[in-house]
Amino acid sequence: MDVKKLMDESALYIMDTYKRFPVVLVKGRGMKLWSADGKEYLDFLAGIAVNILGHCHPRLVVAIQKQAQKLVHVSNFYHNEFQARLAKLLCDYSFADRVFFSNSGAEANEAAIKLARKHAKERFGAEKTGIITALNSFHGRTLATLTATGQPKFHAGFEPLMPGFSYVPFNDYEALKAAIDENTCAIMLEPIQGEGGVVMPAEDYFKQVRDLCTRLGILLIFDEIQTGAGRTGTLFAYEQYGIEPDILTLAKGLGGGVPIGATLAREEIAKAFTVGSHGSTFGGNPLACAAALATIETLLEDGIMLSECRRMGEYFMASLLKLQKQFPKIIVDIRGKGLLIGMELTRDCAMAVQACFERGILINCTAGNTLRFTPPLIVIEEDIDRLTGVLKEVLERFS
Ligand SMILES: *Cc1c(COP(=O)(O)O)cnc(C)c1O
Repeated sequence: MDVKKLMDESALYIMDTYKRFPVVLVKGRGMKLWSADGKEYLDFLAGIAVNILGHCHPRLVVAIQKQAQKLVHVSNFYHNEFQARLAKLLCDYSFADRVFFSNSGAEANEAAIKLARKHAKERFGAEKTGIITALNSFHGRTLATLTATGQPKFHAGFEPLMPGFSYVPFNDYEALKAAIDENTCAIMLEPIQGEGGVVMPAEDYFKQVRDLCTRLGILLIFDEIQTGAGRTGTLFAYEQYGIEPDILTLAKGLGGGVPIGATLAREEIAKAFTVGSHGSTFGGNPLACAAALATIETLLEDGIMLSECRRMGEYFMASLLKLQKQFPKIIVDIRGKGLLIGMELTRDCAMAVQACFERGILINCTAGNTLRFTPPLIVIEEDIDRLTGVLKEVLERFS
């Protein structure tokens, strides 16, 4: 492979929306990735919280291979073998009664917004359309989900935005209460703000929000695109906050790397979608559903994967706290749950990401100054030790 030619062509022919590292990744196994020129990388990004089983997990590989030989795609005009089984599995393990399948996080949120509006209009009247989201949130790049995203930097250049959205500071219950009016139809929140820098919810915030929503007949939408599929140590993050949302969205980890999105809801709300209300050509296709079913079954049946995610999360946090003691002037804060962990620095963290890359470790930087770690859930102590060893070396150079 002519790596240089490939990267040149990439720069020439692909729209310039991504800042890329100068590497062509060609192979992966477990926690490891290899580039075309044979360099090995330890993957603490997992395709941004996607490859929960690690790269090329045998069960996922076999599920994809078997399904590719049988049937890749048919339209939703027909039933397929895995869509219903996957929907049932997600409902059995959650508050939800029904699922709508799509192909990405933004689409899953788009469906959630449409469902919330349709439900609210039918139940309360045509004006009930307002959606409140949090500042610093991230909900996707389609026009509605971009508007839902409470960060002006993502909006710039794409106005006019969708009408009917307003924003409140995350974790500020009083501000949320004040922002509600008679036309508010839903409140949409991430259990942990992932792209916003791994920002944790305040104690009891979700309980208060849930009570308020229930009292006022407002739907609570949880965007679990990043936190779902086991990332925080339970199948869904909401399980750890003692509340249930009305609508929940999934994508990233759900297919173990195969694109799929899902919007989950209770029957009372789901019934607002009737034949023709919404649709997706690819949504829930046989290949994606076979992959997602294999991914979630592996996560659940393995028995120890979720508990290991919690245990490794604690080990990871403890290791980073040790590091913070050594670099109190650089490391401001460490936060997260399970294997969604952020380490906030006093400075821009792009240089640290670059230095880790040069040393064969993949991580990324969110919110400008927060290193984010979202490794596959199969990560072990040895991998974490390797990462913290490299971080120590990198931070030493900084101080
Ligand atoms: C990644 C992400 C999205 C968008 O998902 P895409 O698949 O990129 O459309 C939405 N919400 C949250 C919380 C995310 O982390």
